Amino acid sequence: MKTNKPVCVTGASGFIAAHIIRELLERGYNVRGTVRKSPENYPFLLGLPGAKERLELVKADLLDAGAYDRVVEGCDYVMHTASPYKINVKNPQIDLVDPAVTGTENVLESCLKSGSVKRLIFTSSIAAITDEPESTKVFTEKDWNIMSSLDRNPYHYSKTLAEREAWDFIMRKRQAFDLVVINPVLVIGPSLSPSLNTSNGMIRDIMSGVYPGIMDLNWGFVDVRDVAKAHILAMETDTASGRYICADKTMHMRELVTLLKSSGFDTYALPKVDLSGITGSLLMKALSFTQPKNTGMYIRTNIGRTLRYDNAKIMRELGLSFMTVRESMIDTVNDMVKWGHLPASKH
Ligand code: NDP
Repeated sequence: MKTNKPVCVTGASGFIAAHIIRELLERGYNVRGTVRKSPENYPFLLGLPGAKERLELVKADLLDAGAYDRVVEGCDYVMHTASPYKINVKNPQIDLVDPAVTGTENVLESCLKSGSVKRLIFTSSIAAITDEPESTKVFTEKDWNIMSSLDRNPYHYSKTLAEREAWDFIMRKRQAFDLVVINPVLVIGPSLSPSLNTSNGMIRDIMSGVYPGIMDLNWGFVDVRDVAKAHILAMETDTASGRYICADKTMHMRELVTLLKSSGFDTYALPKVDLSGITGSLLMKALSFTQPKNTGMYIRTNIGRTLRYDNAKIMRELGLSFMTVRESMIDTVNDMVKWGHLPASKH
């Protein structure tokens, strides 16, 4: 074990954070998680094995300056995952950018004040690397998203600004503590809580007839349990440094639909018509203007483009291996059925 002191995890209620906490408890760590409501609202965390003895939940909001002082006090390691993950919002500045950036500043300031924090593990995203795949380019940790703005993929913008703020802060404060960043692609997998998060929600939508047809879109996928491991390896590996693209393979929407069909989910309302050719893509781009603003924007900046990235650094330096997308996808769907987000298959 790397530390006997509590490992702080911000945004404990979140899809990814809950798995980080489960994994930390499983490995014998003490954990201090931050939440926005009183602890009894999180039975799925309080019921985890080891939680009774070693999990403490404390209230903190990203926008409250100083709220994290008490939270990170005495900790060696902090994992900062809390950040709004929503695509369509009323006011991107207030709903996404402010909590992402101000929250990051607040957590960093508290880590600095603590005098105890050795390393902050920051949950960024592929969104801070690009919001528009280029079919001929392989993205690496050296790339930064310079395209997003409040009007263009604002979630991506919020993640880019927040991660930039974290690196700038560390430089300004002359590296008072380490910063290690995890940049996951689309995270899927079983949820520990009853709520449906944005990334699993996309799989639910694909299976519920929301998409008119198979579009020329592809995504990188990674299982939430692997993302949790990545955070812990980033803490436990002394030599960990910089950013880590956390991703298994990419998959075209056509392959995804085939995978779902061949995995026994063929009775769901999966898209049938192939709209992934040139005409289909033109049609989808036109139709994207009928979608909620940022969904439409996402379609227009991604359709017809192949996402490629290099995930070698995380495997080489942190020793992470990935479960297959098939296994992860099957677990995701079965879990959504379990929580009632999808009806049971008619097989
Ligand atoms: P969730 O929506 O499940 O979790 C988000 C967490 O942030 C929740 O705990 C939420 O608290 C908390 N949060 C939001 N706003 C505030 C606020 N103002 N003050 C305090 N806490 C707040 O998302 P995920 O678990 O999927 O995402 C976690 C992190 O991973 C985010 O930083 C996201 O950007 C990043 N990420 C996610 C990916 C994915 O595909 N899921 C991919 C790449 C990165 P509450 O429950 O109270 O709302």
